[in-house]
Amino acid sequence: MKLARQFESTQTYMGRYEYGEDLIYGLETFCQENAITAAWVNIIGALSKATLSYYEQIGHKYVNKSLNGEFEIVSCSGNISLKEGKPFAHLHIVLSDTQYQCLGGHLIPGSTSVFAGEFVLHVLTGQASESPELSRCLDEKTGLALW
Ligand code: ZN
Repeated sequence: MKLARQFESTQTYMGRYEYGEDLIYGLETFCQENAITAAWVNIIGALSKATLSYYEQIGHKYVNKSLNGEFEIVSCSGNISLKEGKPFAHLHIVLSDTQYQCLGGHLIPGSTSVFAGEFVLHVLTGQASESPELSRCLDEKTGLALW
């Protein structure tokens, strides 16, 4: 394991999404408006569409699957950090369909439409003398933007 930064959990926001909003863009906008640069997040609710993906470890590319229909957000969790100086949301999600079957994966930005959604956002604050924000940059070995 590699320690990125040590934080204190300083503040917690609870709120809901507007109908039709995107999970990732809504969260990133909220963080930008509230100057949140590091956080962890949990979301539950329901979606009418989403694109899930997994990262092809050999090919270094995401493989996507688009879903349309009625889905419960069984679990959606992730984090906020900085990428190119802006709040960046990295979320993974498990959805259940009308047959109670679950699908999950990495969530693609701009791919969701919220029917209803509740979030709990735990803001993390570091010591000012020690670069408080996490920042993502390209990792050559994986091809991913990592801390
Ligand atoms: Zn991911």
